[in-house]
Amino acid sequence: MALITKKLRGTEDVLPAESYRWQFLEEIMREQARVYGFAEIRTPVFENTQLFQRGVGETTDVVQKEMYTFDTKGGESVTLRPEGTAGAARALLEHGVYNDGLPVKASYFVSCYRYEKPQAGRLREFHQFGLEVYGTSKPVADAELICAAASIFDRLGIDDLSLEINSIGCPECRAKYHAALKEYFAEHSNELCDTCKGRLERNPMRILDCKSKICSGIAKDAPVILDYLCDECEEHFKGVKACLDSAGMKYTVNPRIVRGLDYYTKTVFEFVSGSIGSQSTVCGGGRYDGLIEELGGQPLPSLGFALGMERLLLLLDSKGIEIPKPETCALYVAALGENAEAKAFSLVKDLRDASLHAQYDIVGRGLKAQMKYANKIGAQYSLVIGDNEIEENKANLKNMTTGEQVEISLGENFVSQFTAIYLDNKTSSPIF
Ligand code: ATP
Ligand code: MG
Repeated sequence: MALITKKLRGTEDVLPAESYRWQFLEEIMREQARVYGFAEIRTPVFENTQLFQRGVGETTDVVQKEMYTFDTKGGESVTLRPEGTAGAARALLEHGVYNDGLPVKASYFVSCYRYEKPQAGRLREFHQFGLEVYGTSKPVADAELICAAASIFDRLGIDDLSLEINSIGCPECRAKYHAALKEYFAEHSNELCDTCKGRLERNPMRILDCKSKICSGIAKDAPVILDYLCDECEEHFKGVKACLDSAGMKYTVNPRIVRGLDYYTKTVFEFVSGSIGSQSTVCGGGRYDGLIEELGGQPLPSLGFALGMERLLLLLDSKGIEIPKPETCALYVAALGENAEAKAFSLVKDLRDASLHAQYDIVGRGLKAQMKYANKIGAQYSLVIGDNEIEENKANLKNMTTGEQVEISLGENFVSQFTAIYLDNKTSSPIF
């Protein structure tokens, strides 16, 4: 039989046997978000298109080429979120959270949608974890945010990510920089790709972020923003570097980083890997002091980062870093005969009520096949129940690793007996 359809290009399924990998990463991210003082925000997967046009920026690749935008039956233009910040900022503004005391620190897990050319590390549906801080312009907040991202990589044992930082200034210094860039790129305007030709007038800084080889070749010798920073932005950048230094964070200043979204100001940063090919930025972020005003709120200095979950998984694979597997079934209760089936069902329910992972046969296998299945799922202990066992109200509990057997009562204290034996021999205690 042929499947009527398959998954769309640029989308991925996470199957039951792999989902523990995601859960493990999410657990570590949740924990680091908690210790750094962030609480999770959840927002809708689609928003009014205007939110992203304004919040991400009209001159970005995301808005110009990549958004999934459609008209609803009611005639509204709606867009699947291409990133997590605009929705979070919209929700916090809409609910007046910024009036309840600053800073506001929010974390999120989101699925994002961008119509891109699918390749390794570049999907049309992908997932991000992010942190957002609103209501502080202090350089220490930038450093704290960077440390929070780094703490996740540290906990995962990733040591080859390099932290690259830059400052892209404020609208004031950027005006002078834009003029210098325009002058530089105007000399090469014939060679630029069509998109960049358009950017030349509207936002020449975007050319620095172009993925085309020719444009990035030309951009190599372009003026750098750091030479155009105003005093305030220069001071701020110094402050961020001093905080990172005092925290012992290693970084390099890369004046070429501009980031893909329009709303960034001052600090920008990326965690870049040498191990996962050309989609090498695992995490990117920075400051966006103009965003909240852009969305209709009072000016509010803000910053954040987004970390690409799929790229992080690729990186872990490429480094051979293994994610601990969840614990397997503690006890498999095999049954022979109808009475035994009913008994297995009730024993397993009692174990589960005590938060133990227990299983039994629900598809009608014979005894031999049941034991084979117990092995396949990695059951740590097994028990076979037949009419004899029910009559005597006891059975042999088998340790599936050592083959050792002990008698266990099937009466009232069955669960406590089993728990004692199980915990006594339990060796691993991973995060699950
Ligand atoms: P790139 O330059 O690779 O296109 P970007 O600047 O568009 O990245 P951001 O919008 O800053 O990326 O998103 C933050 C992170 O989300 C990226 O560093 C990356 O890890 C991840 N990411 C972005 N786009 C994709 C995608 N299409 N598929 C998978 N992950 C992505
Ligand atoms: Mg992109």
